[in-house]
Amino acid sequence: MKVVVCIKQTPSTTAVLTVDTGGNVKWDDPGGKPNVLNPWDEYAVEEGIRLKENHGATDVIVLTAGSEESQEALKTSLAMGCTAAILVSDAAFSGSDTTGTARILAAAINKVGGVDIAVFGKQAIDGDTGLTPMQVARKLGWTPLTYVSAIKEVGGGKITVERLLDDGKETVTANLPVVISVVKEINEPRYPSLMGIRKASRAEIPTWGAGDLAVAGGAGAAASKVDWSNIYAIPPRVGSVEMITADTVEEQARILADKLFEEKVI
Ligand SMILES: Cc1cc2nc3c(=O)[nH]c(=O)nc-3n(C[C@H](O)[C@H](O)[C@H](O)COP(=O)(O)OP(=O)(O)OC[C@H]3O[C@@H](n4cnc5c(N)ncnc54)[C@H](O)[C@@H]3O)c2cc1C
Repeated sequence: MKVVVCIKQTPSTTAVLTVDTGGNVKWDDPGGKPNVLNPWDEYAVEEGIRLKENHGATDVIVLTAGSEESQEALKTSLAMGCTAAILVSDAAFSGSDTTGTARILAAAINKVGGVDIAVFGKQAIDGDTGLTPMQVARKLGWTPLTYVSAIKEVGGGKITVERLLDDGKETVTANLPVVISVVKEINEPRYPSLMGIRKASRAEIPTWGAGDLAVAGGAGAAASKVDWSNIYAIPPRVGSVEMITADTVEEQARILADKLFEEKVI
């Protein structure tokens, strides 16, 4: 059984979004923290590795579409225990919307060949749409299983999973191949081992470009139908503090109640 885990490298969780006067978006981390493996994707990587450990998967290939720097997130995934990594990177792909990204990932999964399960995180903490897994499933023509909180059984060409719903859980069985997106309830991601980190640091990660993939429908800025023309950080709330002074607590409470009443809070 072959598993592909799709991951994205994102800014660290403490990074702050800034937009300059030219409308260029930047993520800056005041603490100088580097980009990270998208936190939701840590659960996807862990589940991919567990498919090898518990359900007999032979290959757990971690895949990302991104810049050269995304190799770092791939190496983190290798250090955790993925068996191989692939970077898809090409200037022609930059500016892809989620549909373009899904077309690229579907083409890469097809090129890997013989994949039974593609595992995704729930969402990326920067783009934040949560659309990519479903769109990849659509492009591949595979069954999408979203919000998976447990993989119960894999075998006989089928997979049984538990899905987390707003007000409960449901168990679903589907024929392979499938695309699954996982939620944090599914597992506790492991830390990369020291040996894993050493091995991953020496790994040669193949890069596939536009010439290596048959991306049906196109990708990149020209093929994008969605334009994120106005991204901005929410301005900080401005507040003021007024201290209520009086001789007794009861008097303070009365003044406070009057003010809240005046402001129509109560
Ligand atoms: C600064 C900025 C500007 C952007 N501008 C535009 C724009 O103008 N138009 C537009 O449509 N979109 C724009 N995007 C969105 C960008 O194209 C998306 O990040 C990308 O398409 C994936 O969508 P997402 O980040 O919402 O991922 P989600 O759909 O939230 O991710 C869900 C899961 O899909 C997988 N995944 C997501 N991305 C990848 C990837 N690249 N490789 C492998 N797996 C992946 C991961 O498992 C992830 O957990 C912009 C994003 C940023 C940060």
